[in-house]
Amino acid sequence: MTTTRGSRPIATALMLAAAFATVIGDTAFAEGRPAKELFGGMALPAKAAPSPYGSYAKGCIAGAVAIPTDGPTWQAMRLSRNRRWGHPQMIALLERFSRDAVQLGWGSGILIGDISQPRGGPMLSGHASHQIGLDADIWFTPKPASPLSPQQREDMPFTSMLQKNKFLTVDRRLWTNTHAQVVVQAASYPQVERIFVNPAIKKKLCDTWTGDRSVLGKIRPIYGHDAHFHIRMRCPEGATGCKPQAAVPPGDGCDKSLAWWFTKEPWAAPKKDPNAKPAPKPRAMQVSDLPKACAMVLDARGPSSELEATYQASGGFMPTTASAFVAPAATADQPFEIPAVVPVPAARPAGW
Ligand SMILES: [Zn+2]
Repeated sequence: MTTTRGSRPIATALMLAAAFATVIGDTAFAEGRPAKELFGGMALPAKAAPSPYGSYAKGCIAGAVAIPTDGPTWQAMRLSRNRRWGHPQMIALLERFSRDAVQLGWGSGILIGDISQPRGGPMLSGHASHQIGLDADIWFTPKPASPLSPQQREDMPFTSMLQKNKFLTVDRRLWTNTHAQVVVQAASYPQVERIFVNPAIKKKLCDTWTGDRSVLGKIRPIYGHDAHFHIRMRCPEGATGCKPQAAVPPGDGCDKSLAWWFTKEPWAAPKKDPNAKPAPKPRAMQVSDLPKACAMVLDARGPSSELEATYQASGGFMPTTASAFVAPAATADQPFEIPAVVPVPAARPAGW
């Protein structure tokens, strides 16, 4: 068993190398350009069998597919970011979830935020994770009955579920039982390992959810996540390069790990030691910091078009206006605006 496991990643890496038939060494990433610039500049995925490499916050993906910009029960938002790419199982899950959400009364479907870049990897702006095609953000706003135009998808503001000027409190005028049902539905799929929501939303679920509480433990409190929630899938079966996360602790999570968020500790400014030397500027992640396969993923040939790598299973489509829409890409100097409703705490709680 151990031998089989040990040899598989090597075999996979060799297969990748053969499939890509490219020479690594003198390409752009040897020059020390940050990995986020290289992965952020990729327009299309690596054409290969779907394989996530590494972990959610340090990895990449080969063989990602795009969710169509439009579907019977979903629309993808912020198309200019080109982050509609994920593992095919992630895309299939999102399409199924979009249908289930409509059944629960969630408008005419879901609005999908960022999934991953075409080859995953670190991003120029916005996320630490979302690197291996197994994370997706869903807006806390249902898809309206009439489709949003590409421009509206760029401009539509996020709606926080929190009360303004009040510490970690869900706004009762905005939050409904359907919101709760939709989040619990997302957590209910066996392939979903974690859902991230704002601590105030987790508390609301703990206080008010009267149904089956067996999946509440998958719903994890974290800062932000008040205008969208985040779906994280576990590593797919057979994805030997995918580094799994620790299992969530048993129980519904409505315990002291949640109470911690309502103390001052996570929100306090970090304590400064007057004698400490100034911390060195953190070095940008390099391709060499990622799993070895990621250099090959970056260098691999892509499909001939976006359409060729678009998932086609549930009647999704790309209106010509959407696919023709090209907005300026984000750069390191002009990052996309990230909603910051609450301050970022100093530390993360256990089990994040
Ligand atoms: Zn996210």
